[in-house]
Amino acid sequence: MKAIISLFLPGGLLVLASLFLVHLGGVKAHLDTIAGVYPYVVYIGAMLLGWRFNRSALVFGTVSIALAHWCLALFTPGMPGAEITSRIAYDAVTLLLPLNLLVLSLVKERGFITPWGIGRLSLILGQPLMVGLIVGPDPWRFAALLEYEYLPWGFLSLQPVSQTGIAVCIATLALLGFRSVRSCGAKESGFFWAAAACFAALSAAGQGPVMSFHFATASLILLVSVVEVSHTMAFRDELTGLPARRALKEDLLKLPGQYCLAMLDIDHFKKFNDRYGHDVGDQVLRMVASKLDRITGGGKAFRYGGEEFTVIFPGRYADDALDHLEEIRKEVASSAFMIRSGFRPKEKPRKPKARGSGGKRVSVTISIGAAWPGSRSTTPNEVLKEADKALYRAKKQGRNRVAG
Ligand code: GH3
Ligand code: MG
Ligand code: MG
Repeated sequence: MKAIISLFLPGGLLVLASLFLVHLGGVKAHLDTIAGVYPYVVYIGAMLLGWRFNRSALVFGTVSIALAHWCLALFTPGMPGAEITSRIAYDAVTLLLPLNLLVLSLVKERGFITPWGIGRLSLILGQPLMVGLIVGPDPWRFAALLEYEYLPWGFLSLQPVSQTGIAVCIATLALLGFRSVRSCGAKESGFFWAAAACFAALSAAGQGPVMSFHFATASLILLVSVVEVSHTMAFRDELTGLPARRALKEDLLKLPGQYCLAMLDIDHFKKFNDRYGHDVGDQVLRMVASKLDRITGGGKAFRYGGEEFTVIFPGRYADDALDHLEEIRKEVASSAFMIRSGFRPKEKPRKPKARGSGGKRVSVTISIGAAWPGSRSTTPNEVLKEADKALYRAKKQGRNRVAG
């Protein structure tokens, strides 16, 4: 449920709001004025933010949307029954804009003032020129090709997008939607909903202010997705996907009067890394994190740093929390982790492995120190220090145990 909501928010909500607002009395009455300001504010805001945050996808996505907007405003002011230049401009935009957004969502960040950045910008800005050159002296032939009707479905012609345009838009939305569902990432979701808003804008060609409103919303969605990605980068640990130390610091301030804190540390992890390599170490960190993420008893896990984790149990008494910590300790200790057969140990094995023996099963243990507010420690930071001391005791007592 949480995953579905996060796919819909905030992009889906912004598209719905945009579709709703253009019909809302107060907005409708002033749509000309609003649509004359809203796109400029958003386009400039998106470019500035993209430049400051070094997010070329936001800048180039906004350039693509603004360019499409400008072309349609210039060539298709009153769309229905338009003349040939308008039809060509419109057909070209319906094909090129979704494709530009799709490509931008796929390519990696490679900066602005780099050969990649300049190349991408030239490709986007050069598209109107390329269309002009390709269409050349015989625009009717080109329009007939772009507006060819593959299906005899009259109801499709009620809106201005050609059948080819509809196919491209649907294919783009399907691909972006698939990527968004698979990755659950804010960037992917942003591009999907921005493309949906662009589709709404394209269907409103000829209704200037409505089209402008939806185009601006598309750029706003990209802008918001960059803010979301930045938030995730600050508050989530990239390797394990758990909330990071910054999130822990904030959550510590929100704790109720009764709670339990635990510090967890993987045992002999340095040796593990030395033996199996850092990459295998990373995979083990991810495995331990995924188990901690599912800890019972209302516990919330954070990556404190390195191979150390923190778990918060808000509103829990010590006895109760200790049971859940003991359970997770046992679960980690009894879990085997399969190393792919292709891995090369850092140290030469004493006994060579038999041929065809496949992967290798390895496991790790964790030590846990728990603490709660009491006479010695009252603030969450003090309790965290107590938990750290308890962890030290667990290590001294022989590791793979819980100390409280
Ligand atoms: P102890 O049982 O006393 O905790 O021993 P230890 O070896 O786990 O503790 P120590 O603090 O000496 O070493 C921690 C190691 O964790 C050192 C470092 O190589 C490893 N480590 C920290 N962060 C990462 C990471 O992100 N990935 C990997 N693969 N290893 C990490
Ligand atoms: Mg450590
Ligand atoms: Mg350790």
